[in-house]
Amino acid sequence: MTAATSTTSKPSIEDRRAEVQAKLEAELKRIVDSGEYAAWFTKMAAFHRYSPTNAAWILAQAPEATKVASYRTWQQVGRQVRKGETGIMVFHPKPYWVDPTSGERVRPPRDPAKRARLEQRIGFGVGHVFDVAQTDGEPLPELGKPAPADAPRALAEHLDGWCVEQGVTVESRDLPPGLYGYYQRDGDRIVLATANTPGERVATLAHELAHRQDPELLRAEVIGDRRYYAHNRADCEAVAEAAAHAISARFNHDITGHSAGYIASWVEGDVTRLSELQQRVGKVTGTLLPPDQLDLALDAARQQAATARTSALAAGRSRS
Ligand SMILES: [Zn+2]
Repeated sequence: MTAATSTTSKPSIEDRRAEVQAKLEAELKRIVDSGEYAAWFTKMAAFHRYSPTNAAWILAQAPEATKVASYRTWQQVGRQVRKGETGIMVFHPKPYWVDPTSGERVRPPRDPAKRARLEQRIGFGVGHVFDVAQTDGEPLPELGKPAPADAPRALAEHLDGWCVEQGVTVESRDLPPGLYGYYQRDGDRIVLATANTPGERVATLAHELAHRQDPELLRAEVIGDRRYYAHNRADCEAVAEAAAHAISARFNHDITGHSAGYIASWVEGDVTRLSELQQRVGKVTGTLLPPDQLDLALDAARQQAATARTSALAAGRSRS
């Protein structure tokens, strides 16, 4: 067999990457088209989407919070806030009326004509919400399938080794249900749930490392934009999970069912969003994957050629 035929029969790295990506997009589309996403969304409809300002404010008070809701909303979905838990403060717009002549705040009269003479202004009221970790009860519905329980040893070794090399601290802790892990840039630390199966552990480790390597999050860190993540949470989560999917696929750990469900929940069923984020996913994946065998072979060949050249030069010089 000639070199030419062997390269055409073996798919290139780009082809394999595109194949992995297409598989994830197809599953995402299936979840949305089949109505799985809609069914999940209906169950989760009680949860309110907080404004970017409130989302940033929630994260500042409770960095580990994953899902927050009011006391009543938790009751509606079958969970109860535990006694003695302190709420997380949020702001909500609250209109009030002012008498334009006196400038005083007044109760709005029932008569629409009198009311029209008053000036309406918007103030802010303070409310309290609670994180899922502060509640007990029915598990929340999850979209997609769990990651396979077993993990290829090579993937675990690669990711753990990468963390040791880069000085990333990895620890295990008891975390609330539904929270597999998280990354804290302060202290460069990844926390993984002790309840994770080996398969969930590696998939989560890859996801959290992807957050660490996300060029947009790194840029925000450099310019001191502490609210970037809260303001762009859906994109950040989709990028991290797509990267975790690609990294896992390289080691034959297929988490497509899990990743597609997770991404669908964040991009709100917008299947095109994932392909729009592809370049960013590629950048993250590139920093976390070991060089491909083909790349390694090329590197070795280049190095060999360079050594051969240097020794030829050295030999030439010694002769002169
Ligand atoms: Zn994440």
